[in-house]
Order: sequence, then structure tokens, then C-alpha cells
Amino acid sequence: MSETPLEDPEEQGIIFDIQDYSVHDGPGIRTLVFLKGCPLRCTWCSNPEGQLFHPEIMHSRMKCKKCMKCASVCPKGAISTRKDGFPRFKRRVCLTCEAKPCSVTCPQRAIRVSGQHLTPKEVYDRIKVNSLFFRNSGGGVTLSGGEPLAQPVFVREFLKLCKTTGISVGVETSGHFKWSTVSDFIGDLDFYFYDIKCMDSTLHKQVTGKSNRLILQNIAKLASIGASRITVSVPIVPGVSDSEENILETVNLCQKLGITKIRLLQYHELGRGKYEDLGRLYRMPSNQMISKDTMSVLRKVIEKHGIECIVL
Ligand code: SF4
Ligand code: SF4
Repeated sequence: MSETPLEDPEEQGIIFDIQDYSVHDGPGIRTLVFLKGCPLRCTWCSNPEGQLFHPEIMHSRMKCKKCMKCASVCPKGAISTRKDGFPRFKRRVCLTCEAKPCSVTCPQRAIRVSGQHLTPKEVYDRIKVNSLFFRNSGGGVTLSGGEPLAQPVFVREFLKLCKTTGISVGVETSGHFKWSTVSDFIGDLDFYFYDIKCMDSTLHKQVTGKSNRLILQNIAKLASIGASRITVSVPIVPGVSDSEENILETVNLCQKLGITKIRLLQYHELGRGKYEDLGRLYRMPSNQMISKDTMSVLRKVIEKHGIECIVL
């Protein structure tokens, strides 16, 4: 299966979650649509199931009772038994399996498939049931991920549908996308939560797999068409972005571009279990944390420069 984002307007997007009634991801009550696939590999990512552009099997050892019924229905012979009695999945083989009978058969619901191919219209029909909440609260839809703008054809078509009924659409983006693929619609989004993980390009490459050059280029372009709609999001991660120096550089960037809001996201380890479910390693060291005091110091640095700061 291809890792390439969509090219054909009739094609489906790949979505790994839809969550209703969020109040932290934009104004009012919002439905979050999580698009699967991201060009970055942040070591602290709490949505690792959003990184690859294809469906994936997630298996929970916590729920699994080692009955091996899943192996007996697998048409590809992709499940074997580990020494400890748990099933082992050949994940590359799973990619070619359409029906995924293992997840239906498991009596413990220990197997789930992350990632579903849906058309923009299918997602629109799913979210529009919340139209009344959106209208009464000033809310709407926030596209998240993964990197939503890595599926520009899906986003463009979805946005068109939402605009026909006046549903607000905002986006949470890593900023790592090809400007030419979104330039015709990006200005029509209602707001942008724009990640600046850290200002040091070498460190950025070390911890995300990519330098921040494209991200900084894109935010300058975006600011030229809608600085007031941008909130810069900084994940405060130990040893990456938690220094006053990094925050000051971010503040300077915002001031230069006319951006007046920064959101600080406190590091947590809540995604750790998902790595095991996906058969991957969580690369952050254990017992890392960011104290409330650190968050408070960083908030003051931002506010001192006249920039609004939201701490989450
Ligand atoms: S069917 Fe479910 S409970 Fe049984 S071994 Fe497979 S994953 Fe575990
Ligand atoms: S998804 Fe298909 S190939 Fe993969 S383990 Fe389940 S049944 Fe087997």
C-alpha cells in the first residue's frame, strides 16, 4: 500500500478517529477529525497510530487472554504464537488484508484496526449531526492528526462541503506540508493551531526526523494571509522545548510575523501504551516530566512580551 497522500479528488481520505464534544481545540463545541499519516516522527508523539498513511492493527496485551482465536481466522497466516503465549502479528502482511477478521473474532476486543478510508462526504455526513451544537456554541470541526494537510485533496473537498452549510473548520498542523498543494484553500480555514516544536533546527531534526526549515517558511506565508487566525502551539517536552531561550525565540518569531497567541502543551506519557499496541518502541526515556512551575515560568516569559498564552 502506498505511503503517498491522495491525488484524486474522488479518492477517500484515511481517518483514524472522530471525537465529538471537544472544548479545548478551538472555539465552542467541536468535533475532532483525525487524519492518518504524518511526515514527522516526534519522539514524544502521543498519537503514533496517526503517523503512517495506511490502516494498522493495534493489539492490547492488557485485554488479550491468549486464546489464539485470532490466529485461527487469519486468512494470511499472519499471526503466530510468541513464547509468552501472546499473538505475534506480521504487520506488513496485515496491510493486504481487507476484512481484518481477527478484530471481529477476538472475544476480548483486544484487536482493533486504526485507520478507515472515508470520502469527504462520508465524514461530512458523520459530523453534521452535531450542527446544532456547533451553531449554539460557535463551534465546528477541527482537523487534526497526523498531519491533516498531508491529505490536501480530502481537506479541500471536506472544507467545501462544510462551507455550504456554514460549519467552521480549523486545523491543527505540524506545519510540514507542501505549500503549493494547499495554497488554493488554506486561507479559507477559520483558524490554525500551528506547531513550532523547537526553534533549533538541528535539534528539531534529531527529535522529529525533519529540520524546521519548511515549517518556518510555511508559517511566514500563512501569517501573511491570516496572522490573527494563528495560534502557535509549543509542546513543552523535556530537553527539547522547555528552555526559556527556546520560548523567547518562539516569541520573537511570533512578534516578527504579527502572531499574538501561543499555546503551551505540557508533555505527558499517555501515548506510551499505544506504542506497545502497535508493536513499536516508545523512544522517550521513562519518568520524564514537566512541572507546573516550569509551565508557569514559560507562560510568564510569553505574557511579558504582550502575547496571549494558553496552557494546556
Ligand atoms: S483472539 Fe483476542 S484474546 Fe485471543 S489471542 Fe487473539 S487477541 Fe488475544
Ligand atoms: S488483519 Fe488480516 S492478515 Fe492481519 S492478522 Fe488480522 S486477519 Fe490476519
